[in-house]
Amino acid sequence: MLAGREAVGGPARLRPVNYELYMAEAIAEARRGAEEGETPIGAVAVLDDAMIARDHRRILLQRDPTAHAVLLTLQAAARKLDAKRLPEITLFTTHEPCAMCVGALLEAQVRTLVYAVPDMERGAAGGAVQLARAPGMPHQISVISGVREDEARKLSAIASAPA
Ligand SMILES: [Zn+2]
Repeated sequence: MLAGREAVGGPARLRPVNYELYMAEAIAEARRGAEEGETPIGAVAVLDDAMIARDHRRILLQRDPTAHAVLLTLQAAARKLDAKRLPEITLFTTHEPCAMCVGALLEAQVRTLVYAVPDMERGAAGGAVQLARAPGMPHQISVISGVREDEARKLSAIASAPA
């Protein structure tokens, strides 16, 4: 019972239960951000069925327009692995990543991206544009969307609540 929709990019490497499990961790990370007054978007990086990095959006906290959950989590994973490329990583995030974050995933040669809520305005993994699988790029990322989507959508209600 795979809750998510699998996009083009070949079969998933992880079992369905793991999508749910790690997305739950990304949602927990987003909630942590909300508690800090941030827009709740969370991400986790998984390698060999183990979570190696996690973070949430920190734009307000760090006064940094590039402090997106995916980018921060990718940076933390690279530091942890002491690697400049992360081809075995699966990146989970509660919100479809923007062009900057998908660009970073491409630079790191991340294999798989899993997200919960699509973003038809800014999403760069099939929502507004499809950068993750652009034919002209040297690397393509497998994209799986819709995992725990309903639950992740409720995060926006937290955002409008008083901190
Ligand atoms: Zn981003």
